[in-house]
Amino acid sequence: MKSLEQLTRPNIWSLAPYSSARNEYSGKVARVFLDANENPYNAPYNRYPDPLQEELKKAISNIKGVPAGNIFLGNGSDEAIDLPYRCFCRPDIDNVVAIEPTYGMYKVCADINEVEYRPVQLDEQYQMNADKLLVACDDNTKLIWLCSPNNPTGNSLNRDEILRVIEHFEGIVIVDEAYSDFSRQKSLRSELQKYPNLIILNTMSKAWGCAAIRLGMAFASADIIALFNKVKYPYNVNLLTQQKAMEAIANRIDVEKWIGLLLQERTHLMESFAMLPICEKVYPSDANFFLARMTNAQAIYDYLVDKGIIVRNRSRIQLCNNCLRVTIGTRSENSELLGALRQYE
Ligand SMILES: *Cc1c(COP(=O)(O)O)cnc(C)c1O
Repeated sequence: MKSLEQLTRPNIWSLAPYSSARNEYSGKVARVFLDANENPYNAPYNRYPDPLQEELKKAISNIKGVPAGNIFLGNGSDEAIDLPYRCFCRPDIDNVVAIEPTYGMYKVCADINEVEYRPVQLDEQYQMNADKLLVACDDNTKLIWLCSPNNPTGNSLNRDEILRVIEHFEGIVIVDEAYSDFSRQKSLRSELQKYPNLIILNTMSKAWGCAAIRLGMAFASADIIALFNKVKYPYNVNLLTQQKAMEAIANRIDVEKWIGLLLQERTHLMESFAMLPICEKVYPSDANFFLARMTNAQAIYDYLVDKGIIVRNRSRIQLCNNCLRVTIGTRSENSELLGALRQYE
């Protein structure tokens, strides 16, 4: 790996970050707070929230087995996807490499930040080849984007290939594990100590059932976390989100229950799809959705919309010709979908 200083944009490396009142005095023992121009009325919403979300990070640290100092929390994973561009990629000079197909936000953020995006096609089984990714890199490649289990394909990437990329790439490898709670594959979080160029993304939007509160996580070296903290908005995770996330963690027995139910439903729905005459192939899934190749994805999509059932049409995506992406719902939602598809002609 190149040094973090070599990888970081010079303006970010030398940035003097905004120092908020809550940064300068973060003790809890004081009684009178007249430092942040807050309104003394309307507690608790009158006070700025903890800019570094220490209490929440401690709770997440316990669950995820990663020290609090190696955790960044953001306004959804979206923030943790945008920050690496802002920290590492010089507009119009640097580039990033990513698997293709994958989650659309990596490219959108590249475009917003004026950074060249180099997609590298997966093979027919939606697996990646480390050498193919590394060959696409040059001296200005700062980031490699991987997603496992991948969206929209649903499969996990081969762990040895991921590790080969991390070991041979000079820059930073980001592995988005948004769906790892649904997978039996081991998370790469256990490898963080070993690889200072690894960033792992998680979210509360999927298995945790909290898409509305917008809480995303990045796990990385303390130095990368410090860079993110320097660049992020000072109060990027609001009080309501921090409170709801604490509640979700306290009730995590529910999350385990949901995951169990959804995995059971996934098996049932995938098997039922495989038997539909209009379904040509069901791709293996490690997530709470799966990809199915249909006889005519667009027509079937339109037919379902007409019945008030919305799936995702991924037909126009590379390697996903005629594919629909189906999220696992409740038993009754899944039955409605199957009932409609059985009547399709
Ligand atoms: C859904 C999803 C996310 C979640 O994004 P949030 O901003 O945390 O809601 C992240 N990565 C992938 C690949 C996803 O599919």
